[in-house]
Amino acid sequence: MSYDIHVDLIPDLPSEAYRNGIAAWEGVCIHDTECPGDSMDSEVSYFKRNWRSRKAFVHAFVDGTSMTQCAKWEFKSWGCGNGNNRFINIEMCSAQSAAEFNEIYKRTCWLAALKLNERKLGVMDGVTLVSHDWVRRNLGGTTHTDPIAYLKQWGKSWADMVKDVETAYEALTQPELTSDTHISDRGIQVAVDDHVIAKGILIDGRSYAPIRAIGEALGAEVAWDSKSGLTSVDGTVMKSTVNQDGVTYAWSAELAQVTKKKLEWDGKTKTIYFWNE
Ligand SMILES: [Zn+2]
Repeated sequence: MSYDIHVDLIPDLPSEAYRNGIAAWEGVCIHDTECPGDSMDSEVSYFKRNWRSRKAFVHAFVDGTSMTQCAKWEFKSWGCGNGNNRFINIEMCSAQSAAEFNEIYKRTCWLAALKLNERKLGVMDGVTLVSHDWVRRNLGGTTHTDPIAYLKQWGKSWADMVKDVETAYEALTQPELTSDTHISDRGIQVAVDDHVIAKGILIDGRSYAPIRAIGEALGAEVAWDSKSGLTSVDGTVMKSTVNQDGVTYAWSAELAQVTKKKLEWDGKTKTIYFWNE
């Protein structure tokens, strides 16, 4: 599942970094416009005219048929008070029917998952995925309580939304190996907790970890079926395996999913961390 993101940037917006730097968003904040009968086009043109006087703009609007990005993701927008220096702001337009709401909701969950996955932030309620209401309660600088009532109006809770963003996030991180993959970096490190214990490889931008070394360090049972040539971890056949120089690797996201570990990529040291917790 994938959607097109229409880009129609509001001109002359300020280029303000997030608190951790340019393009270093820490999560996504979800809103609804509370503006009956609106569409992403009407919202974008309204904010093009009025963002200065309203002192407000967000990164994207989603309606029942499309979504528009109107501010650059890498800079902060002015949508959720003291949360602006952490979060991307996404607005759901108002819905006239349950069918329209469902389309808006699906697209919003997908877009939130996409922006979280781009920085491998995971989906964590109150950490990487928040409501405007959460920002009001926890960070302040804003009085809005959206989109809680909007979700409720259409039979959804915030917990539903978190779950559905998680599902969308998982769908985005499924392996997509093709036969023409190429190894782009053999020098990455793989760590379990704080200890680097193996070398990994980067294939088409995805990190791969040696299954046996890492699986066993994570306390998982690693088995190789000599008949089928398939490797399984804790009884789950790994789908993303590649063999290089006699070592079997798996995409680290799949390995983390199967062993239920958290994953973190440090681009500076080119290290992929599996966290036991
Ligand atoms: Zn809001």
